[in-house]
Amino acid sequence: MKSVVADARRLVVKVGSSLVTNEGRGLDHEAVARWATEIAALRRDGREVVLVSSGAIAEGMQRLGWAARPKAIHELQAAAAVGQMGLVQAYEAAFSSHGLHTAQILLTHDDLADRRRYLNARSTLRTLIALGVIPIINENDTVTTDEIRVGDNDTLGALVTNLIEADVLVLLTDQQGLYTADPRRDPAATLLLTAKAGDPALEAMAGGAGSGIGRGGMLTKVLAAKRAARSGASTVIACGREHAVLTRLASGELVGTQLVAEAQTLAARKQWLADHVQLAGRLALDAGAVRALAREGKSLLPIGVVSVEGSFDRGEVVGCFAPDGREVARGLVNYGAADTARILRQPSSQIEAILGWVDEPELIHRDNLVLLA
Ligand code: GLU
Repeated sequence: MKSVVADARRLVVKVGSSLVTNEGRGLDHEAVARWATEIAALRRDGREVVLVSSGAIAEGMQRLGWAARPKAIHELQAAAAVGQMGLVQAYEAAFSSHGLHTAQILLTHDDLADRRRYLNARSTLRTLIALGVIPIINENDTVTTDEIRVGDNDTLGALVTNLIEADVLVLLTDQQGLYTADPRRDPAATLLLTAKAGDPALEAMAGGAGSGIGRGGMLTKVLAAKRAARSGASTVIACGREHAVLTRLASGELVGTQLVAEAQTLAARKQWLADHVQLAGRLALDAGAVRALAREGKSLLPIGVVSVEGSFDRGEVVGCFAPDGREVARGLVNYGAADTARILRQPSSQIEAILGWVDEPELIHRDNLVLLA
C-alpha cells in the first residue's frame, strides 16, 4: 500500500505549535527550514501546497517572557499578535531562500461562515496558488473570542482543505501518528497505519488531550480527518520531526497514520453548510421529522420541531437534533428564532394565521439542508 500523498496534486500541510516552537522554547528555525525545503521540492514536482501554521501564541509568550499560558482572552490575543510576526518572518525567510514568496492569511470562523466572505477567501487562495505563492494560514487569534473562533488549527486545516478542494491534509505533530490506545498509559498500544476517515472507533482511540502547548490533540485530528473527508480529502497524521517526512510521504512511503476518505463527497454548497463550526441556534426534532429528513429526503417543516434554542435570524445556520441528542442535519433557517418558537408543532398551513405573514412552508428547505451521517 502506498501513501495517499503520492497522488495528491493539492495539499494542505498543518504544523502544530509544539513543533514550530520547539515545545514552547522559541521558534525552531531549523525545522521551518526543513519543511520549506521539502515543500519547495513538492512545488517543483508540480504540486500545490498551502501551509496552516500554529504557534503564534506559543511564540508570543516566548517573546514576551511569559512562562505560563495566560487565561485572559486579551492576553492570549496580545501574545498571538506578537508571535504571528515571528511565524511569518520565519516562513518568509525560509521560503525566499528557495525563490518562493509566502502570503499571510488570517481567518476567523466568521470568514468561513459567511458565504460571500467564504467565496472571497477561496478566490484569494486560488489566486495565490496559481501565482506560485505559498499561503501561510493561521486563525486570526487577535480578533477571535470563543463565540466566533474555529478553535484549533487541526479543524482550521480541514476547513481550508474543503475550501480549496485539496486532495490531502497532512497534520504534522510531535507524535508518530494515531495509536490504538494512549501509548503513555497502555503498553500494548500500536501505531495505526491506515483506517477509514470518519470510522467512529477512531474517536475512542484518540480520546485525551495533546501536549498542552497548542489547542489540538489526537481527537481534534481524527475529527478534522472526518471533516476533510466530506470534500473527498484523505488525512495523514505524522511526526514533523521525522526525517524528510513530506518528501517520503510524497514518494508513496507510509509514514504515520493515514485516514482515507470514502469516495462520495458533498456538493460545494452543502460542504460549506456542514463546515459551520459554530451554530446560530438549535432545533429539537421529533422522531417523525428525523425520519423524514434522514430517510425520505424531505425538507424540515415546523410541525416536526419540538423546541428551539438560540437567537438567530432568518438565513442563519442552525443544527437539527434528534430526540437522542445527536445532530442529524443543519441548514439555513427560513424563520428567525422568535417566529420559529411561535410556529413550531404547527402545520405549515397555519403559519400565516399565526405570524400574519408567510415566507415558505418549510422551516428549512431541502436544498439548504445537509445531513450529517
Ligand atoms: N492559532 C493558535 C496559534 O497560532 C494555535 C491553535 C492550535 O494550537 O491549534 O497559536
